[in-house]
Amino acid sequence: MTEFNEADLQQKAKDHLWMHFSRQSVMEDGAGVPIIVKGDGHHIWDSKGKKYFDGLSGLFVVNAGHGRTRLAETAAKQAAELAFFPIWSYAHPNAIELADRIADYAPGDLNRVFFSTGGGEAVETAFKLAKYYWKLQGQPTKHKVISRSVAYHGTPQGALAITGIPAMKAMFEPLTPGGFRVPNTNFYRATEHGDNLIEFGQWAANRIEEMILFEGPETVAAVFLEPVQNSGGCFTPPPGYFKRVREICTKYDVLLVADEVITGFGRIGDMFASTTYDIQPDMITCAKGMTSGYSPIGATIVSDRIYEPFKHGQTSFSHGYTFGGHPVSAAVALENLKIFEEERLTQNVKENSPHFRAALDKLLDIPIVGDVRGDGYFFGIELVKDKDTRETFNDEESERLLRGFLSKALFDAGLYCRADDRGDPVIQLAPPLTIGQAEFDEIEQTLRGVL
Ligand code: PLP
Repeated sequence: MTEFNEADLQQKAKDHLWMHFSRQSVMEDGAGVPIIVKGDGHHIWDSKGKKYFDGLSGLFVVNAGHGRTRLAETAAKQAAELAFFPIWSYAHPNAIELADRIADYAPGDLNRVFFSTGGGEAVETAFKLAKYYWKLQGQPTKHKVISRSVAYHGTPQGALAITGIPAMKAMFEPLTPGGFRVPNTNFYRATEHGDNLIEFGQWAANRIEEMILFEGPETVAAVFLEPVQNSGGCFTPPPGYFKRVREICTKYDVLLVADEVITGFGRIGDMFASTTYDIQPDMITCAKGMTSGYSPIGATIVSDRIYEPFKHGQTSFSHGYTFGGHPVSAAVALENLKIFEEERLTQNVKENSPHFRAALDKLLDIPIVGDVRGDGYFFGIELVKDKDTRETFNDEESERLLRGFLSKALFDAGLYCRADDRGDPVIQLAPPLTIGQAEFDEIEQTLRGVL
């Protein structure tokens, strides 16, 4: 392993590095920032040589696992051959081949692929395309977007406008107008529906219809939904939910966008979770797992219907990114998809997901573990103050519990995962798609020890 000078790195980080979504004060007042220097399989190492279980695939990204020299070699070979060329009025083979592969995996008639460099850009692209599509249909007043409370869709100002986490937006208001919020599918907190999940799903879907009618169908361009909502802690769709959402969208001429930035590329057990839940979206946004993190890329996958007006004539979509569909990233994505197929990674997730859940369900005997939920290799564990009443921690307690204690305690115990307080307090797990029973048990044991 490469040697690192820990003190020197900490000093330089303190002097110059600005971390994302993080309190810089850990560098000024605290013990410094954990510096991760190596990954192999489902493990990572810090600069002091300590080994950790990567229970979050970096950030829902390293789906095929760390240390794949094959992907590194693919990147090096492509960089030597053609490091860069844009897909602005030109093309290169990797972008063409990758678009073809992705169109094959995508459900229904989602056959057209617009590349970006990450998830937020993919969402931004879908937002702008939805608005422009309706303009081309002679309906320029359709520009609003409906999304769900606590959902995260990225940081560009359009994507942030439809994000449902007020604390993330307050600093940047006023944002692009047009974001409208409906309830998410947090069944654990929907106690008025008793144990009737189907009824709850219909209720939640009908809130979308209510919002469309309230705003006026002639003003609503699209609904953006994650198949499994990440923020708030892995809210799965109740059976029948997406069927009803599709009916509503079709009825009012509103586009349905599945934000699969996390769920895409195997996380839920199919290449796209839209397939798992039989969602029929008009667009899919994806990124993270596409290259398993070996190079950045994102994509917006678009239906034939939306693409139709662009097929002939003078209209172009006046939008793009210099690095969108980067030759190196596209080459790595193609090789990553080969690994998925050779190692049957989606099948591994499908077959083993019930065992992962069973291991985590064991934690329900711990007094502060209120709920275990999720699907595939994507689970959230909600922590509560009182299990019988489901009373949650207040903001201050939540902050002390998660930021003040759990994040660090879990990391110290050798498990990197997420302790999230953007809704009610939740621990989130999204390990590489390669793992199996032994690793589920290891995760359960570490969580049990700390909790
Ligand atoms: N959409 C969803 C559902 C996400 O989870 C994320 C990031 O976590 C994004 C969009 C934004 O992606 P990125 O950070 O690559 O811009």
